[in-house]
Amino acid sequence: MTTEVEFCAPKNLAEALEFLALNRDKKTWILAGGTDIMPAINSRQISPLAVLDIWGLRELRILEQHQRHLTLGPLTTFSEMMQDPRIGQTVPLLREAAQSVGAVQIQNRGTLGGNIANASPAGDVLPVLAVHNAVLELRSAKGSRNVEFNAFYSGYKQSVLKPDELIYRIHVPIQWPQQIPYWRKLGTRQAQAISKVAIAAIAEVRGGILQDIRIGLGAVAPTVVRAKKTEDTLRGRRLDNRLIQAAGEIIQSDICPIDDIRSTARFRRRTTTNILRRFLSDLKLAHRGM
Ligand SMILES: Cc1cc2nc3c(=O)[nH]c(=O)nc-3n(C[C@H](O)[C@H](O)[C@H](O)COP(=O)(O)OP(=O)(O)OC[C@H]3O[C@@H](n4cnc5c(N)ncnc54)[C@H](O)[C@@H]3O)c2cc1C
Repeated sequence: MTTEVEFCAPKNLAEALEFLALNRDKKTWILAGGTDIMPAINSRQISPLAVLDIWGLRELRILEQHQRHLTLGPLTTFSEMMQDPRIGQTVPLLREAAQSVGAVQIQNRGTLGGNIANASPAGDVLPVLAVHNAVLELRSAKGSRNVEFNAFYSGYKQSVLKPDELIYRIHVPIQWPQQIPYWRKLGTRQAQAISKVAIAAIAEVRGGILQDIRIGLGAVAPTVVRAKKTEDTLRGRRLDNRLIQAAGEIIQSDICPIDDIRSTARFRRRTTTNILRRFLSDLKLAHRGM
């Protein structure tokens, strides 16, 4: 039996929002680059009754640099994140995370909004948005609302996005000169590998003291998470070997990884500790005598 699928390629955002409002009770899927959704349809993991193709909407393809933050449209592709100098200069972690995604085909087509809305704990740009305290602007025909990125996910593959809303803008506070960025993704291969563990962090060290640190973790919990207990332990403390050892243990209470097709919980636990200790040791070395 074939099912009729209603398909809409809107001419503008207003038309897109109207379609979402009218079809909010149906199984409606937004189609951006299609790199998550098309494989899911082909393998029958999902069977949409309505599809809204937003790829052609210029209103969703913007990039603005403000004094303290960048505003990105959800259709910003990984390739654009890698190539646009404004992103490289102000949020370098976004460029690094985009570089580690899939291969060229996926980078050209996969989008920031799709990575966020897909809500996989292994989405590569998500730990970056977590440490930058990004804000998502969601829009429906009724208007806009802002949601902090760190409050967007409600569980595994679940978010607070309503059926008649789309992600309209992503506001990312820019990195200050004294903040040191760190990115590490561990997959099976260098390319075309979904994360087993991903860590994004930014830290600020003055006089040997960790003034501030934020740590975002991917693929080690049902959603991307901030390592809050570890951050609280580290903030304001002298960066010495004892602290680095302790942080590697405390971070275990910030994560709850599982065994899956890509890795084991045990490997993910050990690797998270090792990567954190490596980052902190590098920081300590770089700031010796400063
Ligand atoms: C071979 C391959 C390799 C990959 N490698 C990686 C990798 O290394 N790292 C990684 O993180 N991901 C990877 N992915 C996953 C995928 O490329 C990313 O998640 C990508 O960001 C999805 O973006 P998209 O535009 O293609 O989303 P789509 O497939 O179009 O949509 C994904 C989801 O987001 C929703 N959506 C899209 N845009 C919006 C919006 N503006 N508002 C609300 N909802 C929206 C859709 O309805 C759907 O639920 C890979 C995929 C493939 C096929």
